[in-house]
Amino acid sequence: MINFQYVRAADVADAVRRMAADPTAKFIAGGTNLIDLMKEDVERPSRLIDISRLPLRTVEQAPGGGVWIGALVPNSDLAYHPLVTQRYPLLASAILAGASAQLRNMASTGGNLLQRTRCYYFYDITTPCNKRAPGTGCSAIKGINRIHAILGTSEACIATHPSDMCVALAALDAKVHVTGPMGERTIPLSEFHRLPGDTPQLDTNLRQNEIVTAVELPAQGFTSNYTYLKLRDRLSYAFALVSIAAALELEGRTIKKARLALGGVAHKPWRDPAAEAALRGQVANRATFTHAADVLLREAKGYEHNSFKIELARRGIVRALTQAAQGTPQPQSKKEIL
Ligand SMILES: Cc1cc2nc3c(=O)[nH]c(=O)nc-3n(C[C@H](O)[C@H](O)[C@H](O)COP(=O)(O)OP(=O)(O)OC[C@H]3O[C@@H](n4cnc5c(N)ncnc54)[C@H](O)[C@@H]3O)c2cc1C
Ligand code: SF4
Repeated sequence: MINFQYVRAADVADAVRRMAADPTAKFIAGGTNLIDLMKEDVERPSRLIDISRLPLRTVEQAPGGGVWIGALVPNSDLAYHPLVTQRYPLLASAILAGASAQLRNMASTGGNLLQRTRCYYFYDITTPCNKRAPGTGCSAIKGINRIHAILGTSEACIATHPSDMCVALAALDAKVHVTGPMGERTIPLSEFHRLPGDTPQLDTNLRQNEIVTAVELPAQGFTSNYTYLKLRDRLSYAFALVSIAAALELEGRTIKKARLALGGVAHKPWRDPAAEAALRGQVANRATFTHAADVLLREAKGYEHNSFKIELARRGIVRALTQAAQGTPQPQSKKEIL
């Protein structure tokens, strides 16, 4: 581990001021990702700005009828908060599908948004990696790429974003509130994470000296017809190979509104307006769901070890939409779908 300085921010303005003064500093919240990366020598901040005691720990009603989640609300508190269990059960399911109870107690809402990829080469500083060291190449494209992306990849990087929580936030149309030296701004969750393009070192559109202060959920939470299906190698304590957040608003058997977001398949939570349009106005049945899956995966491209993800995603989408339409989210079982 490298030498670094440590300071505790007094308030949000102080955190932003300290970050603007030192471009090589990093905010630290729960530390469950950043400290691992520092131990592996992947991240080498000159200074840690501890934001964990800032007053950003409340979950409350937002003025527009939605819910406001402070950036430091721990993942476990969020998953069990009554406003979330009652109004956004899809989000609660996604959070509880991630990590372990101990990690969820430490992990913050803001840190979950900004956690970095689990690509093995990103963690191994002896290998080329354009995300860790721009311009060195991508070891995964011709290497072991079982956990890598099948959508939105580039010749520079095929990494995935590993979060479960963000997949549900994408499906729910959440917004991210941030503060920087120029003041506050709001970024739709769908525009918060980036595709790799030729700058894979940038995971998000957050500017270097901005801090995430909150996530806002809109009023509609899809409480009746939803599911979060996470497909992975083990049923606990493993990142998703493919995950699906599905939410429907039904009128009889007709789909009035549909939300579909995938995790584990791209550099960001993957939402496709064409796939959701293929569901809207249609009868909620297997043929409709299969067609929507085909639309969503029309440009999917596999690599040597991860082509299986295309079929896994196709079956997962159909399964998740079927569960959502039934209105009773089923316990997940990898065996049922493989
Ligand atoms: C063994 C293991 C298994 C895991 N399994 C899963 C899983 O299955 N699913 C899943 O979704 N996640 C999983 N995780 C990841 C976990 O959810 C993240 O590590 C956690 O959410 C990060 O939150 P944190 O508060 O600890 O972030 P930190 O480690 O403190 O920070 C992470 C990054 O975010 C930045 N940051 C933090 N807060 C802010 C803020 N408010 N504004 C700006 N920047 C900020 C930091 O500078 C840093 O770059 C796992 C982690 C581990 C270690
Ligand atoms: S996929 Fe991305 S993170 Fe992984 S080695 Fe390639 S450039 Fe690095």
